[in-house]
Formats: sequence, structure tokens, C-alpha cells
Amino acid sequence: MILAANFKMNHTRATTKEYLAKLKECEKPEGLELFVFPPFTALDRYESVATIGAQNAYGAESGSFTGEIGLQQLQEFGITTLILGHSERRHLMGESQELISRKFKFYKERGFTIFYCIGETLDIREKGDIQSYLQSQLEGIDLKYEGLIVAYEPVWAIGTGRTAKEEEIEEVLGFLSTLTPRPLLYGGSVKPENVQNIMRIPNCSGALVGTASWRVESFCEMIEKIKEL
Ligand code: PEP
Repeated sequence: MILAANFKMNHTRATTKEYLAKLKECEKPEGLELFVFPPFTALDRYESVATIGAQNAYGAESGSFTGEIGLQQLQEFGITTLILGHSERRHLMGESQELISRKFKFYKERGFTIFYCIGETLDIREKGDIQSYLQSQLEGIDLKYEGLIVAYEPVWAIGTGRTAKEEEIEEVLGFLSTLTPRPLLYGGSVKPENVQNIMRIPNCSGALVGTASWRVESFCEMIEKIKEL
């Protein structure tokens, strides 16, 4: 099982260090893999029970790409794990599928573990054609890539406190499992109160957590809940 913390634009270098120090004290069950995605400025070579990853990166080694980081900057800290296609990058920063799939290809060729996010908007859910929308977000993505982890994160459930219903998650993960043999995660208002039920959903290998992961106490509480399963 996988439990991943996406800090988004929260935490500093100092508080990330404190967070990871406290995380060490939190007892992790065997078989649970932890990941933490701090902001770029807090990337470093930490000694941690969690694998540290980057929330995004441009698909180039280095170059004239103002405001981006690339392979060279990640390599400095031994980072080989990335989130790509997060809904905030797709919808707030306007990243196209073409751009995301180019980044995917670049980091796949360099053996990165890629948390690849997909998820429908509320509008698409209400219209009902969720499957073809999700498939369009998988265009250009090698679904057999051994470093791929797919995170299903319905946009309407991210940071809203509104978790998708278990049957809704189960239906989508069931569909995705017909497309890829790789692990499938759910993300969208996962918290200590619902993490157990989410982890029990068929085809669910874990959770990508935003808001509820920002306090280390709450992230540890989720680890405790998973331990009880
Ligand atoms: C996320 O941003 O990946 C996420 C799932 O956020 P939240 O847990 O806050 O909904």
C-alpha cells in the first residue's frame, strides 16, 4: 500500500525538515510505502522513512525554461519520483495533455517513478462520460510502464472536503484496472476518518493526500489507521 503527502504550495524548507523528523517517530506498518512531495524549495537529501518526490518538473535536463526545474535540479538531491498531471497543474496552470505526456515520456526514459494524476471535473461527472474523459488524460501515457502509479483524483473532491462515494471510486478504479496493471490510488479529501474505507476499495493500492497530510500528526494518524487494517 501507498500513502503519499502532497504539500502543494505549503511548508517551507524548515518546516519540511521538522515534519520529516516527526514522521520518523510515527510507526509505519510493513508493506506501507510512504511518499512526501514538498515544494521545490524544500527538496533535499533527507534521511527519511518516506521517499521524497517533486510535485512537477519540466521535461528537459536544463535550459531556458524560466520558473521550471528539470532533471539536473532533481538529480542534485537524488530525486527520482515525480507527480505529473495533477489537476491543479492541468486546470489552474493550463497544462495540456500534450505537455504532460511529453514530460511523462522524458522522465519515463530516465526511470522515474511517476504518480500520474487523472480525474474528471464536476461538469463531466454530471454529463456522465467519465470514462472517455479519463482516457483522454491517459493519451500518450505508457500504461505498462513499471514506474507508473496512477492516482484517480476527481477534481470536485480535491481540497473541497467532499470525498467521492466508495461506489464511485470503485467504479472508476475498476475501469482503470482494465487499462493498466499498475497500482491505482485515490485522491480527494482523504483524511484519518475515511482512509480505512478508501484503502478497502477493490483495486485501490493507496491514497494521494493533500490537505490532511500537511499536519504531520494527521498524516501519522492515517498511518495508524492503515496499521489497523
Ligand atoms: C491532492 O491535491 O492531490 C489532493 C488529493 O488534495 P486533498 O487531499 O486536499 O483533496
